[in-house]
Amino acid sequence: MTATVPREEQLWSRCAGCASLLYRKRLRRNLDVCPECGEHARLGAPERLRLLVDPGSLRLLPDQLPEADPIDFVDVLPYPHRLSAARASTGLAEAVVCAMATIGGHPAVLAVMDFRFLGGSLGCAVGELITRAAERALDDRIPLILITASGGARMQEGTLSLMQMATVSQAIAALREAGLLTVSVLTDPTYGGVAASFATNTDLVLAESGARMGFAGPRVIRQVTGRALPEGFQTADVLLRHGQVDMVVQRRSLRGQLGALLAATRPTRAGRPTRPPVPRQEPAALRERLTDDGAAPADPPADGDAAGTPSTTPGQGGTPPVRDAWDTVRMARHPGRPTTLDYLDSVFDGFVELHGDRLGGDCPAIVGGVARLADRHVMVIGHQKGHTTAELVARNFGMASPAGHRKALRLMRLAARLGLPVVTLVDTPGADPGVSAEEQGQAAAIAENILTLTVLPTPVLAVITGEGGSGGALALAVADRVLMLENAVYSVISPEGCAAILWPDRSAAPQAARALRLTAPDLCRLGVVDEVVSEPSTAAHDDPAEAAQRLRAALLTNLLPLLDVPPAMLVRLRRQRFRRFGSTRAGVRAGAR
Ligand SMILES: [Zn+2]
Repeated sequence: MTATVPREEQLWSRCAGCASLLYRKRLRRNLDVCPECGEHARLGAPERLRLLVDPGSLRLLPDQLPEADPIDFVDVLPYPHRLSAARASTGLAEAVVCAMATIGGHPAVLAVMDFRFLGGSLGCAVGELITRAAERALDDRIPLILITASGGARMQEGTLSLMQMATVSQAIAALREAGLLTVSVLTDPTYGGVAASFATNTDLVLAESGARMGFAGPRVIRQVTGRALPEGFQTADVLLRHGQVDMVVQRRSLRGQLGALLAATRPTRAGRPTRPPVPRQEPAALRERLTDDGAAPADPPADGDAAGTPSTTPGQGGTPPVRDAWDTVRMARHPGRPTTLDYLDSVFDGFVELHGDRLGGDCPAIVGGVARLADRHVMVIGHQKGHTTAELVARNFGMASPAGHRKALRLMRLAARLGLPVVTLVDTPGADPGVSAEEQGQAAAIAENILTLTVLPTPVLAVITGEGGSGGALALAVADRVLMLENAVYSVISPEGCAAILWPDRSAAPQAARALRLTAPDLCRLGVVDEVVSEPSTAAHDDPAEAAQRLRAALLTNLLPLLDVPPAMLVRLRRQRFRRFGSTRAGVRAGAR
């Protein structure tokens, strides 16, 4: 498990903070914290575990999973080559190491991420291993501690990597329900999909001294805003000041602090909530009730051929013509494409918009409220873009702020209390990557929405109508059924962003679009999407009335069966839907390019 380190580096090490040349053994004795300036150097997962747990108490959980290259991703290197290189250089099987141990005598399950392994990126295997760790904590009724270090989602696994945010979040939700403590310890760096899920939707969030955490990375924010970032932006001390972490902890105090927290919340007293009996599998008949409408089967197809042919809205003339992924991206972004407010006008009746997050803001990029769909009352929540530049600017191009996500959260919870089903319309390039969005807790806002949707006791039906951009899209798309318009896209990262990182040149965006498997037919094959809603003639904006009619038919077909399912069962089935996206799906592949 120990990384092989070249000989000269074993003797001396240069501090990233003050550039002092430090004797390696001295640095090690000081827990890799610079004795000159206090800089906390990054730690690999094995060293981190040794540092945190009681000596002799560590028991590693299995880390072997089937080989996964779920979308056959190739940039300048095939993904399996990158995986092999990461394994060789770290000695680890994946970017997380999970274990059981005691800390100060208190048992806990730990999942420790390792940034050296492909930037600690969250792929299917990482999501599966952390989910299993959480399930182990639930079975043994002990706390879960997550040590995060990640650049974000693993884009080589496309939208399946995005799904891991939901999979792990629902495992955290199960621990919440069972009254078991979850703690995350943010270490440097924690960004993207990890920040916007299990790094921030745990009960307690600790930040190691000097750690940086955020949804959007500083480079992206500088690019978007064109401005220098404030002093200390996204660092632990500033996160504390903005109310986003419980405490900042020096590395040498971390074990003691965790021990104290575990002691204070020890699950031994009588009268604690007990875990409700949750059957692991639903009767087949009940599953069929949700899938017998001619849509894709609940279980993933065996391979990307005939079995994986996406279903389309009934009566719309069969399989849509195959369009190049990049053309679809451009179609999904077309300014003439119907927006959420357009659909609220054409598909629904009597929309009453509700405003505000009750915490200080009303984000124009999210609209929501009650409406009727064929005389049934529903709560509709969607991203709002616009058709003109002025509209787009006023709506922040459909990029929600934390206030927008919190408004959506308020409306979801309200819907559940009132017994209204939730319909979400997803059309966003992504969550707002701005300075104030970060300062107001964008990552935590998205994370809480994702977690809440995994337990929301009312039917949830999501439709990707245009752009389904990353965590900002998923914050409205953890649903019982996920539909996608024929020319919509749904991706863990924009093709331009992916191209800039992996090729690395934004002009490779069309190739990235193809590699990411972001079109509706591809995502249907991968089981991320349940049904493709066909669009009229060339696209929805050519005939908005017809597009609206088809969407309405698809909504009714998919929503009505959900209304008869008891809420507790809906939640269990929804959890099963998102539990499938771990490595158990490794054998499922999108069709050949
Ligand atoms: Zn230093």
